[in-house]
Amino acid sequence: MLIPIYMGYGSVLGVVLYLAYNDFINNMGHCNFELLPKWIFQRFPPLKYLMYTPSYHSLRHTKFRTNYSLAMPIFDYIFNTMDKSTDELYERTLIGTEETPDVVHLTHMTTLQSTYHLRVGIAPVASRPSDNHVWYMWMIWPMACLSMVLAWVYGSSAFVVESLKLKKIMMQTWVIPRYNFQYSLIRERESINRLIEQAISDADGRGVKVLSLGLFNQERQLNGSGELFTQKYPKLRVRLVDGSGLATVVVLKSTPLDTKRVFLCGGGSKVAHATATALCERGVQVIMNQKKEYDMLKLRVAESSTAYLKFSSDEIPQIWIGDIIDDKQQMGAPRGSTFIPTSQFPFKKIRKDCTYLSNPAMKIPEAMQNVHTCEVLAVYICSHCLFAKIDDLVA
Ligand SMILES: [Zn+2]
Repeated sequence: MLIPIYMGYGSVLGVVLYLAYNDFINNMGHCNFELLPKWIFQRFPPLKYLMYTPSYHSLRHTKFRTNYSLAMPIFDYIFNTMDKSTDELYERTLIGTEETPDVVHLTHMTTLQSTYHLRVGIAPVASRPSDNHVWYMWMIWPMACLSMVLAWVYGSSAFVVESLKLKKIMMQTWVIPRYNFQYSLIRERESINRLIEQAISDADGRGVKVLSLGLFNQERQLNGSGELFTQKYPKLRVRLVDGSGLATVVVLKSTPLDTKRVFLCGGGSKVAHATATALCERGVQVIMNQKKEYDMLKLRVAESSTAYLKFSSDEIPQIWIGDIIDDKQQMGAPRGSTFIPTSQFPFKKIRKDCTYLSNPAMKIPEAMQNVHTCEVLAVYICSHCLFAKIDDLVA
């Protein structure tokens, strides 16, 4: 800046480029991971004197009396203030130490909108609930669409989106680079299963203890709720779970204690089936009006409690449980009914005279560290249930 002032003229572009470079280099130096690969310094040795690295700059903050220059290490070389461990630290940082998590939650992208609520998206948006729309989101739409296409074409493995810590337990959320709509495409199934399989064998190889299949990754039509993998790899050391056991406990807990009769609407999912079975065993009458589902469930309920499972089209109690309860079905519910969802997707609230419970979820333990995402459509229910359970185990 002083040169143009002294000379009386200068290049506007030069000033802009200088400021941009300065900003970039400053951010890079504080980003806490090594950005520049080793081959750059090997191919252009003088670069070592002209450009610093994050590891170089970290020594200035930890040792205080070395590595003074912010961008150009040449001055430290001239005045002999260069920290002796600089090169060694740079190489050690490049190798890195990859931590193996104890628990991995394998989820996937849901919608473009929800990506903004992820930590890799926009930090202030990530701290808001997913139904909270920010006006400037439409501006990011073209970029988001492009990223979706790129993920579809080049996304060949799951990636880490979140690392959490609960007491001694390390947890990570891995994301399959596919969106909700891709899970509904039959021709995509094989490639999605391949991505899941790869993530499982990666977790198994690295010594992960538990891997939970989240959202559509555990869909029955896709891979039989994970059975495809357990059959293919009977010697898996990593435990594959789908969180359905815990989700069932949460649904059962939210059913009022004095309930005598419930209506199981549709109810094709594992959680809905397990909830109905447990209710029958508890002596609560479960009424269904779908013959096929009723016949299927009857085979699963213990003989001593089959009397509590009833097929009827005209008896409709006030407690409704199910995965999906559409508008027409909701309109048929008696006044003052309570709707209890068994899936991760909440019901559309169309009745003002009824109570809608939230989708099964548990409070995140206070000891959880590094939570930076408020919610992504409740994607994390299963994992949070799982985390809570593990917390009980270690406590
Ligand atoms: Zn600094």
